[in-house]
Amino acid sequence: MSSPRVPLRRALADLPPYVPGARVPVGAAAFKLSSNENPYPPLPSVVSAIADGAVDVNRYPDMYATELTEAIARSLGVDPSTVVAGCGSVAVLGHVLSAVCEPGDEVVLPWRSFEAYPIAISLAGGVGVPVPLADGGRLDLPAMAAAVTDRTKVVLVCTPNNPTGPAVRAAELAAFLDSVPEDVLVVLDEAYVEFVRDPEAADALAAFAGSRRVVVLRTFSKAYGLAGLRVGFAVAPPRLAAGIRAASTPFGVSHLAQLAALASLRSERELMVRVEAIVAERTRLLAGLRAQGWVVPESQANFVWLDLADRTSACASEAARAGVLVRPFAGDGMRVSVGEPEATDLFLQIAARWR
Ligand SMILES: *Cc1c(COP(=O)(O)O)cnc(C)c1O
Repeated sequence: MSSPRVPLRRALADLPPYVPGARVPVGAAAFKLSSNENPYPPLPSVVSAIADGAVDVNRYPDMYATELTEAIARSLGVDPSTVVAGCGSVAVLGHVLSAVCEPGDEVVLPWRSFEAYPIAISLAGGVGVPVPLADGGRLDLPAMAAAVTDRTKVVLVCTPNNPTGPAVRAAELAAFLDSVPEDVLVVLDEAYVEFVRDPEAADALAAFAGSRRVVVLRTFSKAYGLAGLRVGFAVAPPRLAAGIRAASTPFGVSHLAQLAALASLRSERELMVRVEAIVAERTRLLAGLRAQGWVVPESQANFVWLDLADRTSACASEAARAGVLVRPFAGDGMRVSVGEPEATDLFLQIAARWR
């Protein structure tokens, strides 16, 4: 006779899996272009900040990452009460959603977009309402606004959009905010903002300053190269910020992560030189692909999207055999992070064979 079993939450059965980017096997010579990481190792000043902090790890960290949130607030020109740090901006998004969603509330999201969104929405008890992208891998903000009903609690706006790359324009965002009711939370996920060079791109912090329902998400994982330490943050109106803090995992940002993020802010200028190099490499990768005849979205992030449809998985496997790990979305397309110049050269050779 089988004994009764503890049932799992029904929402878990329907969760799409989060597929991490492929990792480089130990000892293999390969370029890891599968997770939008920064290809540069941490700056020596950041490594020493982490090493210096190691002696204190028997203590809990500062729960509210006070020094870090103050430094972030200063660098963005916002009040510290509006900054909430967390264990990566993915965790912060989960806290934002659990701070506002009642069971069954709808969350409008673009699709295809960041694969963590459907998971975070379901875990918060929400119901995702995906809205297909427009041409060129762009968010269709008019369609997203039209998908808002009186059941909608949140709209997620990913700009630049992972995995396609384009950024929302200022005029599009302004029209969108005008057409969505004031009691709907609008989350602007700017994980890649440091790589944006489109002069018409929306200014999320300006939208935040002019509204009581805009939350901006940022991260130290991409441009700042701290993906392995897990630190991101929200900028939110004070009442919402307090709600997000209340919904957060206590001590979610480790002491080492706080020190590394602070050291990175102190070395911001040096880090932005690296970002500029990645942007230049993106320009070269996009131009190389277009010269081969590929139609690629106008990426403003540290990755590009190739619409390979049914050939996606086969191409990704061949790239892996050639030493380039990419992120395939089977049957749809492939996201290729911008990495070392040698990686660009190698990937362009592979892409040429699949044209
Ligand atoms: C990488 C990424 C994040 C940030 O992830 P962390 O948890 O901060 O590492 C957030 N949003 C999008 C769209 C991303 O691609």
